[in-house]
Amino acid sequence: MIADLHVHTRYSPDSLASVESVFKAAAKKGVGAIAVTDHDSCGAWEKAREWSRKTGILFVPGVEVSAVDEQENLLGHVLCLFLSEPVKSRALPDLYDEVRGQGGIVSVAHPFDHYRYGMGKRVIEFLGYYDAVEAFNSHSRSPEFDAGAREFAERERLPVTAGSDAHVPQQVGMGRIIADAGDLEGLKKKILERRVSVEGEYRGVGLKLLSGAHKTIKRFWH
Ligand SMILES: [Zn+2]
Ligand SMILES: [Zn+2]
Repeated sequence: MIADLHVHTRYSPDSLASVESVFKAAAKKGVGAIAVTDHDSCGAWEKAREWSRKTGILFVPGVEVSAVDEQENLLGHVLCLFLSEPVKSRALPDLYDEVRGQGGIVSVAHPFDHYRYGMGKRVIEFLGYYDAVEAFNSHSRSPEFDAGAREFAERERLPVTAGSDAHVPQQVGMGRIIADAGDLEGLKKKILERRVSVEGEYRGVGLKLLSGAHKTIKRFWH
């Protein structure tokens, strides 16, 4: 199964993509599962369930939390995946307990991308409070950030996830994992067992401009 574990919709302040459009894009590209991971919002879940039924694309309920440390300082973006209900915590040790308590997993999004709220060196300090790191993100400003994430995962023997971080439907599927799984439980298991491969393409100038334009439009009209 091909899974893109990091997709935004219009429930994120920086995306205009409808839930329908991201599921249709996934279907067109042969992506079998997508995680909808809006910024601090689970507002798209209901529609995502509906479009999952209509398209046959598996829906991984998720959210991209702007996580903080116990002193409320911003730590960075973390992906909460395979959730059964929205999460309330933002502080990482609590957030991890909450996500694990409902059978989900926490993956540190674009950990070394310092332009986009990567957790950076603090990943070491918080080892044990997340399950995985994102080893490919098609939004990364530099492939070196992802290479660093893969090296780190290798060194610490951590599971990996990957995603497009799509903010426009055209980008869905540009970051993905491939796993021998037929359902969400199987997919989660393969991730935690480190039996997935990671693939992707970085977005070109066209998509960068399109995402930027959408961001600007949204800023004006929302
Ligand atoms: Zn992010
Ligand atoms: Zn994101």
